[in-house]
Amino acid sequence: MRERLSRTDAIIIRRGVLGEADRLLTILTPAGKRRVVARGARKLTSRIAGHIELFSHVHLLLAEGRSLDIVTQSSIIDGFARLRGDLASIGGAYYIAELVDRLSEIDVDDPALFRVVLDALGALDQGAAVGPTLRWYELHALERLGYRPELHHCVRCGALLDERACRLDPAAGGMCCPSCAAHAAGGLTLSLACFKLLRYLQLQPIDQALTPRITAATGSEAERAMHLILQQLLSRDLASRAFLAEASRGPAGQPVSDTR
Ligand SMILES: [Zn+2]
Repeated sequence: MRERLSRTDAIIIRRGVLGEADRLLTILTPAGKRRVVARGARKLTSRIAGHIELFSHVHLLLAEGRSLDIVTQSSIIDGFARLRGDLASIGGAYYIAELVDRLSEIDVDDPALFRVVLDALGALDQGAAVGPTLRWYELHALERLGYRPELHHCVRCGALLDERACRLDPAAGGMCCPSCAAHAAGGLTLSLACFKLLRYLQLQPIDQALTPRITAATGSEAERAMHLILQQLLSRDLASRAFLAEASRGPAGQPVSDTR
């Protein structure tokens, strides 16, 4: 029987071990998330091993296997080598990969989601500030996955929001108008600067989104707001958050400025 082969672009979003020498890879492709096997990838002599690093953008040739497809060839399109030289950017890239792995389903075709992940990794590789890049990524990935945070109309009554809106209602998935905010238990009061930042990031492509200079306080507030929204969707916290928090601290324990 002839081997059935297919080719795909992919981002490696998770790597696990399988058996003695193989790797089980979770990849994001324009046609969705998939699990594939890289045989012998843990052997020192493996030709594939160097081409399947975590969060690399690769081109794969896959052979149809009995349950999972097998990687038969791999070449690197972009290994994002520059971001790997900076601990905070590495933390950001782990977070990008882990979040899309946790929230996406197997085989759900979504070339735009693939693009969002690629854009975020590319921005980190270009030296973009980690905080705003991740906030842009969270907003755009959630939109592609069907969980778009509502920042323009009241999430409770649908009224158009203006600058008086300051209450985030994470359980409802967005911001409330001032009259609904009076009835929203829990939630988080956002500064106008944070509210504007999130609205701006949600509407802009990445190349426009990373230019505004924001204060470290607004950056932390935006992180907290997005974390509350994500907690509604994730049954447990992402492991990469702890790494990211650690990596974002400077050598003397000082938080690294978001305007790097
Ligand atoms: Zn309302």
